[in-house]
Amino acid sequence: MQLNSNIPEGVIQDKWDKHRFELKLVNPANKRKYTIIVVGTGLAGASAASSLAESGYNVKIFCIQDSPRRAHSIAAQGGINAAKNYPNDGDSIWRLFYDTVKGGDFRAREANVYRLAQISNNIIDHCVAQGVPFARDYGGLLANRSFGGAQVSRTFYARGQTGQQLLLGAYSSLSRQIALSKVKMFTRRELLDIVLINDQARGIIVRNLVSGEIESHDAHAVVLASGGYGNVFFLSTNAMNSNVSAAWNAYKKGALFANPCFTQIHPTCIPVHGTSQSKLTLMSESLRNDGRVWVPKDLGETRRPEDIPESERDYYLEEKYPSFGNLVPRDVASRNAKEKCDEGKGVGPTKLAVYLDFQEAIKRDGIETIKKKYGNLFQMYDQITGEDPYKTPMMIYPAVHYTMGGVWVDYNLMSTIPGLFVTGEANFSDHGANRLGASALMQGLADGYFIIPYTIGGYLTSSSFNEINTDHQEFKDSKTKAIEKIQTLLKVNGKRTVDDIHKELGKIMWEYCGMARNEEGLNKALNLIPSLRQEFWENIKIPGNESDFNQSLEKAIRLADFLELSELMVHDALLREESCGGHFREEHQTVENEAKRDDENFCHVTAWQYNGRDNKPSNHIEPLFFENVKLSQRSYK
Ligand SMILES: Cc1cc2nc3c(=O)[nH]c(=O)nc-3n(C[C@H](O)[C@H](O)[C@H](O)COP(=O)(O)OP(=O)(O)OC[C@H]3O[C@@H](n4cnc5c(N)ncnc54)[C@H](O)[C@@H]3O)c2cc1C
Repeated sequence: MQLNSNIPEGVIQDKWDKHRFELKLVNPANKRKYTIIVVGTGLAGASAASSLAESGYNVKIFCIQDSPRRAHSIAAQGGINAAKNYPNDGDSIWRLFYDTVKGGDFRAREANVYRLAQISNNIIDHCVAQGVPFARDYGGLLANRSFGGAQVSRTFYARGQTGQQLLLGAYSSLSRQIALSKVKMFTRRELLDIVLINDQARGIIVRNLVSGEIESHDAHAVVLASGGYGNVFFLSTNAMNSNVSAAWNAYKKGALFANPCFTQIHPTCIPVHGTSQSKLTLMSESLRNDGRVWVPKDLGETRRPEDIPESERDYYLEEKYPSFGNLVPRDVASRNAKEKCDEGKGVGPTKLAVYLDFQEAIKRDGIETIKKKYGNLFQMYDQITGEDPYKTPMMIYPAVHYTMGGVWVDYNLMSTIPGLFVTGEANFSDHGANRLGASALMQGLADGYFIIPYTIGGYLTSSSFNEINTDHQEFKDSKTKAIEKIQTLLKVNGKRTVDDIHKELGKIMWEYCGMARNEEGLNKALNLIPSLRQEFWENIKIPGNESDFNQSLEKAIRLADFLELSELMVHDALLREESCGGHFREEHQTVENEAKRDDENFCHVTAWQYNGRDNKPSNHIEPLFFENVKLSQRSYK
């Protein structure tokens, strides 16, 4: 298969403008004739749905939660990047573009990233106009702070609740359109299948999670904004409902899945503390603006951190990376924390933690300043661990946080299935092998507010559509298949719970396809996953039935997909014989243990094609060309 990314011709600065001009417009009167389905009400979905409806399309939007406001995006803490250069510290669209391409270890498309940097400034204006209460400085201007992988302050924030405030902004736009009857909201619905007619995406099959009813919905195009798949590891910072099922359905219907092994492990999470835990908590990257990361210099140190003198502390990030210090990108910070713990210098009861210390910042700026900046995060840490971070350093350890891989999309955010668009964390597009902090919100909102409204019009005007409705045979067949799958699951009536099997999968993935991978481990995972999948289909126990609210059933349907995705992730990790960003192959590292890329053989996107349940997927390659940024070994020293 020849992958066409549809990147416009011309110099990088003009590509998006030129493309928007060349895309055919849909006459306002004709927009009313089109219906678009949006799956997901996080930042990517809510922004897309409200903008599409505002411009005249009819929109149906779906989410798992009881309210669009409960999408996982609400958890985002630290901020959103934009190249406004308000602090006058040297930022520009070009610098944001450069930092993002470099941060992603040169495994993202230049043209997409440049467009993202351009649009970043529109997002801030748009959100301010909506009333999003970004932090402001004394004079009333919008405040900025720094995030990893950048030497300028370009992150806009609303204390540690940026996602919540942005989502409330998007939700208010969405609500306006719901009130105008341009958007029809379907809460408590889970996508079970995507319906293709004449090879175009024309609708979806969903389960009503309260009544169990299986419903069919038709449209002229479908937008998936269904989030990331970090929960394949069971323990992650993602919301409990986050899943891969919508994206996986797209894959099984013919969309390609790109770079599935690129997982972001976030360096500052509250460490795992027990075996019955089902969720990990992130401590925002913004904390690394003022917190200093360290471990004791001596192995076997037993004193409390406050009692360890300065001279006996190893501030390893400041030492090793003097230019960026504690603000190195996430992949670099995570690997260094692991390295210190592997050396035996880890702290806390499990020895799988390092300190994040605010004493110097408190002395320098005063406790009130630190409270204003991070108060809610400190409170959250105290509530979870019972320790007061104003007095004693936080303990942190890397955890699964974000997935850079996802459904392959072209420059228009369309997958290889005509009419199936994918936005936000569900697509693979802009972050390469490592996402810089504060750029997921930027991407989700760029996709939804400013890209999809144009590119979907281009598709609609250049395509022809048969008159169809949900009585079409394809809808009937999809519905029957979805019902059969549910009944098969319920009939197993085995002995193991969904969480029990999911935990086992998580352990396999963390051990063999986690922060560091090697050929031997990946091959082991390739043996373990299929037998666990078989165990699932033969021994799963799902209490209750299908015609009722049944969370075990919901989780089982999602786990069935995770058990397939995990294998694809391992195939992808095995094939990529290099280290880059969130993908660290132990066989490929520099003498200083940094990721060693192989640009000659792997400067590309790997996009996987489904070939049926019992066949190996085939892989396709989209070469990456760097005409504006020079490929170089990433250095944060
Ligand atoms: C704790 C935490 C903090 C973060 N902080 C930041 C930050 O400060 N800055 C930053 O840039 N990024 C941050 N991120 C990342 C960022 O929050 C996410 O990448 C982003 O919010 C994803 O948005 P989304 O709209 O793509 O998906 P989501 O917000 O995950 O929304 C997915 C939507 O799809 C729906 N859905 C999913 N599957 C189905 C299905 N099968 N059927 C129907 N509906 C479905 C869900 O109900 C939901 O409405 C953080 C992430 C975490 C976990």
